[in-house]
Amino acid sequence: MLGNRPDLAKLADTRWDLIVIGGGITGAGILHQAAQLGIKVLLVEKHDFSYGTSSKSSKMVHGGLRYLKQGDIRLTRESLQEREHLLRHLPGLVVRQSYLFPLRHGQFPGRWAMTVALWFYDMLAGVRDHRWVNAAELTQRIPALDTRSLKGAMRYTDALTDDTRLVMRVLHDAVEEGGRAINYCGVDEVTQRPGGDLALSVTDHAGDGLTTTLVARRVINATGAWADQLSGAAARVRPQRGSHLFVPAARLQVTECLTLVNPRDGRPVFVFPWEGETCIGTTDLDHRGDLDREPRATREEIDYLLDLVNGFFPDTQLTEADILSTMAGVRPIIASGKGGDPSSERRDHAVWSQDGVITVSGGKLTTFRVIALDALAMAGFIDRHRYRSLRRGGPRFSRNSAIPAGLGHPLRRWPEGDALLAEVDWILRNEMVEHLDDLMLRRTRLGNMLPRGGEARLPVFEPLVRERLGWTASRWETEVQRYLGIIGESYSVQPGNMGIVDASC
Ligand SMILES: Cc1cc2nc3c(=O)[nH]c(=O)nc-3n(C[C@H](O)[C@H](O)[C@H](O)COP(=O)(O)OP(=O)(O)OC[C@H]3O[C@@H](n4cnc5c(N)ncnc54)[C@H](O)[C@@H]3O)c2cc1C
Repeated sequence: MLGNRPDLAKLADTRWDLIVIGGGITGAGILHQAAQLGIKVLLVEKHDFSYGTSSKSSKMVHGGLRYLKQGDIRLTRESLQEREHLLRHLPGLVVRQSYLFPLRHGQFPGRWAMTVALWFYDMLAGVRDHRWVNAAELTQRIPALDTRSLKGAMRYTDALTDDTRLVMRVLHDAVEEGGRAINYCGVDEVTQRPGGDLALSVTDHAGDGLTTTLVARRVINATGAWADQLSGAAARVRPQRGSHLFVPAARLQVTECLTLVNPRDGRPVFVFPWEGETCIGTTDLDHRGDLDREPRATREEIDYLLDLVNGFFPDTQLTEADILSTMAGVRPIIASGKGGDPSSERRDHAVWSQDGVITVSGGKLTTFRVIALDALAMAGFIDRHRYRSLRRGGPRFSRNSAIPAGLGHPLRRWPEGDALLAEVDWILRNEMVEHLDDLMLRRTRLGNMLPRGGEARLPVFEPLVRERLGWTASRWETEVQRYLGIIGESYSVQPGNMGIVDASC
């Protein structure tokens, strides 16, 4: 288990084989694989684990039909194979889920083109799991959906997860395999020393704010949308924002993932059940805000998503008042250099190297293990033969994980009362919670699933959090103010927002 946050000064005593910068899914995946290879490896994260894109994805472990449509067969195959591996190895955290893709009369691709596409999709995954659902059955499955202009839907399966809990699971296993990880430790600069070692100047954002130097033989920069800041090379990342809305299942009930194609621009948007409520997303826009400020969904994005859903669910008529929370993430897209429509950019990852720093960015949550192996291969830790056998072998996770059963199940509603307190207690003892937002927005998702960030629930947690983390009454008050500030700025609906917010540590 991750356990308590390590002492940064002690980490500076070691000459590491490898330091991984960035505690999203990419960094966690590299730590995990490296630890399994017996490499002396440390991961450093500037904010909280999964603070970046990896807590704000659409939570799908999937091949991605859109990538197939873009002709990206390699990425689709790779993703589907990883999906099947993860379904097998992380049951209860990565969960197979039914998807419905409604088709309008006269829409292209129509039923037969979709059947062929899904036959191919299933074949790449090694499953057979699709069929046609006619309009009458579709109405039965989703009664509030307006099926008047729909022919029916293609039904197939993909998978859902809790993205942050996936990161945490990978980190826990990595630490059990001998890796180390620390959050709230930001890398300010990487320099090459004579002899080839790399020196990382890091700031401790959780403690005294002091700067320390860490030393490693190799460094992998896995900072996603931030990758250009440390790569030392020409900029390659085109940051794109995608936003989601969470609404109560009582207002919009879906038991399967729906893919709604916007008749105005042809973009697919998912409406899916998640942790007891309903999630709607995503948008896809160039993100021009300061990356060091936490993104937020803009009014235009919120209106776009509500309009689309209300078109398909005319009797439901969601309004802003229904929104429990919003969630905006910045996708690290490797720029094609052609500009143009953000949705049409490929979702591949890339690995490149400059002055001893290996940078990896782009890709998907689903393919984190492949991305990790590619980065480790470029860093010289695995040769081609080992690479192939690791790729084929699938991931290795511990079977007897001490993580409470149910934590991270994407379709589970958060428990209440003593059951919830028991989970929170486990998290506080094992998962390096430094701030209240770590607990409310990432270790648990109560900040997303409850109105006003679960403000009303905070007094219930106060005694336990203060006891476990040794916080005084005034520290608790400071944390509550910080947390509610973050909720107000980045996770709620606000008129006239700027699309960005301060993300000071
Ligand atoms: C809206 C949206 C929906 C998506 N949906 C899906 C999906 O359904 N399925 C799927 O497979 N993929 C999806 N993706 C893609 C997926 O989420 C990302 O590819 C993935 O999360 C990227 O992970 P990462 O670790 O590379 O980046 P991040 O998760 O952003 O991690 C990078 C980390 O680096 C840290 N960092 C930055 N600078 C420093 C520094 N100087 N020192 C130390 N640490 C630093 C950051 O704080 C951050 O935590 C989606 C993406 C978006 C935006």
